[in-house]
Amino acid sequence: MSAQKDTPERIRIGISSCLLGAEVRFDGGHKRDAYLTETLARYFEFVPVCPEVAIGLGVPRETIRLVRCPQGIRAVGARDPSQDFTDRLETYGRRMAAELKGLCGYVFKRASPSCGMERVR
Ligand code: SF4
Repeated sequence: MSAQKDTPERIRIGISSCLLGAEVRFDGGHKRDAYLTETLARYFEFVPVCPEVAIGLGVPRETIRLVRCPQGIRAVGARDPSQDFTDRLETYGRRMAAELKGLCGYVFKRASPSCGMERVR
């Protein structure tokens, strides 16, 4: 009888997919983070999410920025503010929040208008 080694269950964490090396950024690049992909990946199961690609924006694409207006904060095209992505991003965010209920945490890409939580232009 052979001894079976238990594989520890990894903790499920959501993550901005560009941090894992996915080429989904506005310029076709990524923001792969070696600490995440080489060290923390041993302990966590990452669930990649890219809201901008998920709502149908292409790669490459125009950059988005957040603007404060009388209706609240809107996510609009940096060059063409008449392009308003807010409703689609909000709908997607609510859907994902419901679908990804089993997550234990989330790693957000800093400064992104769609993923970032602070220092967002
Ligand atoms: S929307 Fe989020 S995951 Fe997608 S490229 Fe921007 S920061 Fe990365």
